Amino acid sequence: MDNSELNDIDGLRGTAEAAISAAADEAALEQLRVHYLGKKGALTEQLKRVGGLPPEQRRSVGQAVNAAKQSLENRFRERRESLQTESEAARSAAEVIDVTLPGRGTGLGGPHPITRTLQRVEAIFGQLGFGVAEGPEIEDDFHNFEALNIPLDHPARAMHDTFYIDEHTLLRTHTSPVQIRYMLENPPPLRIIAPGRVYRCDSDVTHTAMFHQVEGLAVDESTTFADLKGVLIHFVREFFEADLKVRFRPSYFPFTEPSAEVDISCVFCSGEGCRVCQRTGWLEILGCGMVHPEVFRHTGVDAERFRGYAFGMGVERLTMLRYGVDDLRLFFDNDLDMLRQFR
Ligand SMILES: [Zn+2]
Repeated sequence: MDNSELNDIDGLRGTAEAAISAAADEAALEQLRVHYLGKKGALTEQLKRVGGLPPEQRRSVGQAVNAAKQSLENRFRERRESLQTESEAARSAAEVIDVTLPGRGTGLGGPHPITRTLQRVEAIFGQLGFGVAEGPEIEDDFHNFEALNIPLDHPARAMHDTFYIDEHTLLRTHTSPVQIRYMLENPPPLRIIAPGRVYRCDSDVTHTAMFHQVEGLAVDESTTFADLKGVLIHFVREFFEADLKVRFRPSYFPFTEPSAEVDISCVFCSGEGCRVCQRTGWLEILGCGMVHPEVFRHTGVDAERFRGYAFGMGVERLTMLRYGVDDLRLFFDNDLDMLRQFR
């Protein structure tokens, strides 16, 4: 008997079995099944040819094809089951929860450096008995200028570069109007600080159109300039956590008399002289003075009986000096790399 038909079937079966074992997934396995056992599959074609064989071969070849078909069907079923088991195992391995993994963290933010400075300032003055007062950022001419002894024709108005909303309404150019509002509503003795945003229309490396100030005001029957000096020297040393030298220079503000500007020994060079202090060894940090009698007159405080002192400082400047930030604009760029350093 010619064994070529039987050899073909054996060869086909061997190739199919190897391919089944190598099938990577169920989709590849199904493609193989169609290729060998489908309606036009290789083994199906063999079976179709059995009818055309000489009668003495039909039986043995037919049996061989059927046996191969049966065997391959079993192989396909076994391989499919094992692939299913493998993929289920892989899936449950992927889904397993590893309770020993460290947590991802909640990504907490932190206060903005300006806020941080305001909190420190409020805490230090709070210990000295100063409460916190607030006022509107949209002010009128009376509270921002007139009651602070800055009448319409006063040259100090030019220094303020005011944003006017209309003839009488403006964005406050300093936090001093809070003094006026507070004194109009609260009889002395009083001790407040007034932190907040102020606005002026200039903007460059050292100025922004919006910035922050803290105003301070103390009024009672016995307040003196010596009290003012004591409070500010204490504040400066607490704020910078350093035994800084402090000096008061005579100056001029319309709403205080006498007035002074306060310098501290340079925090960067300890007074040796550097680029930041322009080789002087001193840094100017605030303005202050005794409340002008005109201010008391506008707010109904008896200037014969009461005396007071006031001071004002720039929060951005304090923050730059305290944390060594050299560009004012960094505070308003919302650069996370910069802000994260203050967490
Ligand atoms: Zn210096």
